[in-house]
Amino acid sequence: MRTPLLAGNWKMHKTPSEARVWFAEFLEANPTLQSGGQAAVEVALLPSFPLVPVAAEQLAGSGVAWGAQDVSAHTFGAYTGEVAAEQLADLGCRYVVVGHSERRAYWNESDALVAAKARRAMEAGLVPILCVGERLEEREAGRAVSFTLEQLAGSLEGVGLETGEELVIAYEPVWAIGTGKTASADDAQAMAAAIRGFLAERYGESVAGRTRILYGGSMKPANTTEILAGPDVDGGLVGGASLEVASFSAMVEAA
Ligand code: 13P
Repeated sequence: MRTPLLAGNWKMHKTPSEARVWFAEFLEANPTLQSGGQAAVEVALLPSFPLVPVAAEQLAGSGVAWGAQDVSAHTFGAYTGEVAAEQLADLGCRYVVVGHSERRAYWNESDALVAAKARRAMEAGLVPILCVGERLEEREAGRAVSFTLEQLAGSLEGVGLETGEELVIAYEPVWAIGTGKTASADDAQAMAAAIRGFLAERYGESVAGRTRILYGGSMKPANTTEILAGPDVDGGLVGGASLEVASFSAMVEAA
């Protein structure tokens, strides 16, 4: 069985001081997450880099995992401004987002670079949350599935999953991110099923069966239950609604 994952992508929000208060309030509001027991839903928070040590300090020993929003494709070296996978792993990160559509669009990240980042993250023991998803123009042209699967194939180039490596895939239609427009629960399920079919073909049934596929794009407390009802939708990658303790707690409750 796949344990659903609800991950909050804070993007470039909050200071370390604000994060410290937020984590404390979040744990207080969710007593079942205060100790690291088996939960029905796994919860993770993905703040920007300077907030990761704060997460490590405040969330250690709790049932909440933490991670980062990007990682270098390189190992240690002369790469000014980059962050190495080992640095994140040493801070206790479990997850790292790779290939978010904002990085693909504003920093021109290619599928090949995203694949290199995913491979590097896995080598360091991190679980990549690999984002894919179509823009409005592909959806309107009826090419949402073919575009997304092609992007996924390119972003998994050289990524081996046959020996138990863990990967999470997030389907985030670009037109639904931060716009208040959500894919319908049926569309989210249909895409997740198509992604699982692709994984089965490429890696076999066992990998396809254990890999979690998340939906992301304007998720909020009111649509969480409906979106997560799809049998192939194994959780959510939440942007804006993860910034407030109350709304993210309500989503954890609904998941
Ligand atoms: P919103 O939930 O703010 O639409 O953002 C989704 C997202 O990009 C998560 O990675």
